Amino acid sequence: MRGVTTQSADFTFAVLTQIFILSRTNRRVPPHENNTEASETMTDLHTHAEDIVAQFSDHLDLTADDVEERLDNLVNEYRVPVDEARRSVVNSYLDEAGLERDALSGGGNASVGLAEIDQDEQWLDVTAKVVDLWEPRSDSVAQVGLLGDETGTTKFIAFQTSDLPELEEGAVYRLENLVTDEYQGNFSVKLNRTTTITEVDEDIEVGDDAETVEGALVDIQSGSGLIKRCPEEDCTRVLQNGRCSEHGSVEGEFDLRIKGVLDDGEAVHEVIFDRESTEALTGTTLDEAKDMAMDALDTTVVADEMRIGTLGRYYRVSGPQFGRYVLVDEFERLSDPVDAEAALIEARSI
Ligand SMILES: [Zn+2]
Repeated sequence: MRGVTTQSADFTFAVLTQIFILSRTNRRVPPHENNTEASETMTDLHTHAEDIVAQFSDHLDLTADDVEERLDNLVNEYRVPVDEARRSVVNSYLDEAGLERDALSGGGNASVGLAEIDQDEQWLDVTAKVVDLWEPRSDSVAQVGLLGDETGTTKFIAFQTSDLPELEEGAVYRLENLVTDEYQGNFSVKLNRTTTITEVDEDIEVGDDAETVEGALVDIQSGSGLIKRCPEEDCTRVLQNGRCSEHGSVEGEFDLRIKGVLDDGEAVHEVIFDRESTEALTGTTLDEAKDMAMDALDTTVVADEMRIGTLGRYYRVSGPQFGRYVLVDEFERLSDPVDAEAALIEARSI
């Protein structure tokens, strides 16, 4: 039996599980003095059970009802905490399947670096630092922000319904039973009601997951050049015809940016130059751009001017990926076409 020499608590629960396996009967749980807590955990237990069934799907032919019954017995009859019950039940199935825990990896889930997630609906265990917490945009969201590990960062979200303890910015946690999510090619992780959260007393050097892309600048999209942003605190949305989508008609503040498309002959990459990098790229400062627009009584002349000086040229840019954009931290102009195909693109775009 597992865990005999390691932890006495594990041992106790393993024994309880073994007893239960031996009895294997359909005993009803006797009513307890205080059963409200127990009934509240039923949905949780079912989710845990489905999860365990999935973990062993390659090895054992389990049903969620069977697994739930085992969990229910430990939790509601023997008052074992859910996490311990889960570990104990998993251990007994490992024995049954003749597997080492490593066969399931970590707490039974995949361990993948946060910046290396490339599958939807994958169950994960991670040790991660809360790099940033953002203001949730919906009442259903309890917390949203950025988790980081050695490989880089990824967005995380926790919903109110999962009823989880709050994560603190800057703290490091062991998070077991996260599930990945994919939206338009971008991956994030969801905390859910089965997620276990344990604060860890260590720091993590969060990796730099800057993207580097290169290619011919084949397009400068609308919303580039001289733009106006909403002046409301923490808003900074780009105004459309003087209106912020959140705050309505506002007196905007001028800014410069370029939303560009780099084509390397195989793929296109959308990149955003902020004011600083736009000024460096085009040699036009914000004040000069405002003067240009004033003279022409038209802000669009700025983007037109920028197109003339940059389209068809080759650049290598790097910076953090945000949604489908690479936010340009650094860029350099390349002298040569990336390859022959890109050269054709340059020829067409001039
Ligand atoms: Zn606004």
